[in-house]
Amino acid sequence: MATLSRDDVERVVRSILSQHVGNSAATSATAGPPNPLVVNISARHCHLTQEHVEVLFGKGHQLTPMKWLYQEGYYAAEETVAIVGPRRRMLPEVRILGPCRGDSQVELAFTDSISLGLELPVRISGDVQGTPGCLIVGPKGSLELKQGVIRAMRHVHMNPREMAYYGVKSGDEMHLRVESPGCTTVLENVAVRGGDDKIKLEVHLDTDEGNAINLTNATKVELTVAKPHACACKTH
Ligand SMILES: [Zn+2]
Repeated sequence: MATLSRDDVERVVRSILSQHVGNSAATSATAGPPNPLVVNISARHCHLTQEHVEVLFGKGHQLTPMKWLYQEGYYAAEETVAIVGPRRRMLPEVRILGPCRGDSQVELAFTDSISLGLELPVRISGDVQGTPGCLIVGPKGSLELKQGVIRAMRHVHMNPREMAYYGVKSGDEMHLRVESPGCTTVLENVAVRGGDDKIKLEVHLDTDEGNAINLTNATKVELTVAKPHACACKTH
């Protein structure tokens, strides 16, 4: 254990692998088996435009990959920024994820939002209309983000083959059942985020959600299709 770095340990304990066993969702003859189901905690982070990187870190600055993420081509950068909320409350070291995007966005957990004094809506990444803003401070400058601070809605990344396998499309919601000692939980409202062929099946939860379900000690994870309400009453 002593030879493992903190990153190694986190990778081992946070990635709970489970080969999905085929169920009634697998109806399409053309659908192959999905990648193993991986559930990862997405700690607070921000996405920045290249323009904003240069405001915060200096002209011409390029993000430096520190750790490659599970999805090919995406990385946690060495660079961090401070996120400042109302009344100067702040989170000092928020990691930037690369590569740069077309819009800057800050993704926090509810606990972070309490620390910052911001009320955060739960949104799908990229859907930032009408969300709170913040001040972002880097070593070479700062900027005011007018909007874009959210709690990212729990979601699952899937390629087209995996969407066919489960019989879902982008925007649908699924259930994630997690067996863990003392707090087995079913998380509903797991939004499907469809991507291209390179995307691998992966659920993203935030730190609050991951801690609440004791993900680090989970023994089984299972993704199921949300069934329509089945009771006989007329009000549903
Ligand atoms: Zn994600």
